[in-house]
Amino acid sequence: MASKLPANSKLDGIKGMTPALQGRLAKLGICNWQGLLLHMPLRYLDETRITAIRDLHTGEQAQVQGEIVHTEVQYRPRKALVCRLRDDTGQLVLRFLHFYPSQVATLKEGRYIRAFGEVRGGFFGWEMVHPQCRQVEAHAPVAEALTPFYPTTAGLSQAVLRKWISWALEHVDIAEILPQEIYSGLSLPSFSESLHLLHHPTPDTALRSLESRDHPAWRRLAFDELLAQQLSMRKHHARRRHQGAPALAPSRTLVTALLRSLPFTLTQAQQRVAVEICRDLEQPYPMQRLLQGDVGSGKTIVAAMAALQAVENGWQAAIMAPTEILAEQHYQKMQTWLAPLGIRVAWLSGSQGKKERREMMAAVENGVAQLVIGTHALFQEQVVFQRLGLAIVDEQHRFGVQQRLSLRQKGVQPHQLMMSATPIPRTLSMSYFADLDVSVIDELPPGRTPIVTRLVSDARRDEVLERVQHACMEGRQAYWVCPLIEESEVLQLQTVTETYERLREAFPHLRVGLVHGRMKPAEKQAVMAAFSAGVTQLLVATTVIEVGVDVPNASLMVIEHAERMGLAQLHQLRGRVGRGAAKSSCILLYQEGKLSETARARLRIIYESNDGFAIAQADLALRGPGEFMGVRQSGVPMLKIADLERDQELLEAARDIAAELLEKSPRAAEAHLARWLGHAEELVKV
Ligand code: ADP
Ligand code: MG
Repeated sequence: MASKLPANSKLDGIKGMTPALQGRLAKLGICNWQGLLLHMPLRYLDETRITAIRDLHTGEQAQVQGEIVHTEVQYRPRKALVCRLRDDTGQLVLRFLHFYPSQVATLKEGRYIRAFGEVRGGFFGWEMVHPQCRQVEAHAPVAEALTPFYPTTAGLSQAVLRKWISWALEHVDIAEILPQEIYSGLSLPSFSESLHLLHHPTPDTALRSLESRDHPAWRRLAFDELLAQQLSMRKHHARRRHQGAPALAPSRTLVTALLRSLPFTLTQAQQRVAVEICRDLEQPYPMQRLLQGDVGSGKTIVAAMAALQAVENGWQAAIMAPTEILAEQHYQKMQTWLAPLGIRVAWLSGSQGKKERREMMAAVENGVAQLVIGTHALFQEQVVFQRLGLAIVDEQHRFGVQQRLSLRQKGVQPHQLMMSATPIPRTLSMSYFADLDVSVIDELPPGRTPIVTRLVSDARRDEVLERVQHACMEGRQAYWVCPLIEESEVLQLQTVTETYERLREAFPHLRVGLVHGRMKPAEKQAVMAAFSAGVTQLLVATTVIEVGVDVPNASLMVIEHAERMGLAQLHQLRGRVGRGAAKSSCILLYQEGKLSETARARLRIIYESNDGFAIAQADLALRGPGEFMGVRQSGVPMLKIADLERDQELLEAARDIAAELLEKSPRAAEAHLARWLGHAEELVKV
């Protein structure tokens, strides 16, 4: 047998593979032969049958053939090429909104053509929009098997893609890489069989099993892809162990002193995660741990304990928060907890004067500041640490993928603790997050009364106003939240200020405050301080208060236009109440007429559940994994073939096999990674 092309070789050097063609393939992310072979069909066309026009059904994909009896370019309502195709049983309109002169020529009156497309009922009877058409002889044979249809780009036709993929199937090495035992027990076909079948289905392959992607050939590829992901995550994890980090001995004095000073004792769950973190910090390589715990579960104190472990070992710690308000609040809290222990806490804020800022930066740089708190944005600017040993990122889910920590320093890396109230569903933590260690606080501090959630139509606003008044008169406090109107910050500002004015009119005897994202940091701080101190009774706010704000005396929250908000956001907001002993409630106001199906589904979930985990699971089902990727740092290869929900069982198998493979056949593991990640592998490196 002639030797085959290595799968990772570049596309050039083969006759007909022009630079222009390579350029178009590169647009699809294809830059070598394996990339081309793994460019999988989006769907399949059933061109094995000709359907009589009389037998067409709306919504189905069908192939028809007949004579073009009329062709014209119409200009109203918009420019379109419109043809009538006739067979023995009826007529069908073919409509093209974009077309080339060559198409007008092919579709001339009198031509005999075959058209494939989706059938819909138009004003003039059946029609197909943008069908695939070609001129044929009346008795030309039909396709014997399903035709693959690939994702493509401008200037690259299906025919050209099909031709080159077929070429590659013949000439490129697609032999098995991994030892056969790996696949025993999974009953999956070989790599080569799978590729052949999916690119060239045999005549007996059912369309359904290909389209639902549960055909064994798809499952084989999905498994290989998941295995590559598992291998890459494991390697990533292992690579981190080669970077140095300060080994921090457990704190002997500071943590004990802190715990003794608290008015509460840690929950079992807090103690457990604190131990997990403490052990990680003892290691000479950087911790990468995600601390997960529902809103109000008490993550902050755990973070403080970790910070003290760094400080006691002579290293600095930093806490990053997504908003000014939250950073300010952490600063206050850390001051209260840690200043009595003699710890110097520095604070970087947008509201600081230049001079104070410079002093703080100097304290961070010369090591006088032992703990530094600020917003993520501030840390992205040039902050130089003398000896940063631990970086804590609070409310990690709020940070976008692009916002990477710029906390690199020479020599050792800091340990990293990420905290999030958004739990990661199991399938995600097994796949995209497999290289992170996760600790979970699965218990709320005692004495919390569950929040009662009510859904109230906007038509019953007056009753809600009465409840707010009642709560405030009883000495409790309330939030009134106006939604984020994504299209317009100006509109949002208008809404929140108007609401503020209206509520002030409605409650002349109450002290009403206003906070929103456009205020200067110092103003925001003053408003929040007044609310924390109980001076302000009702706080009108935008979603700036979404994360972390902690005012235990606030026991009522009203959220306007709840139907516009996402589940995670509603759950976060609601978590601002129910933090004290008083019975808390959250009223979700919605606009009756504007409720879409999904909005209704979301409101039902948030109404029925107080459990962040169940809510995240439902959110994943409603929105797909993209949302959660915000939690993830960049550089994780995305899955193209496998589907975490559908292929859960393959994911579990891949996880176990990856561990075994790295140990027993590291070279085969490398080869497998190269096949699947190819050029993508470099993305994974941090
Ligand atoms: P989150 O996990 O949402 O960040 P916080 O750390 O803000 O929660 O804690 C919520 C509130 O619970 C704070 O007022 C905190 O001081 C308090 N708290 C934390 N741990 C305990 C505990 N074990 N017992 C009682 N109250 C606690
Ligand atoms: Mg918090």
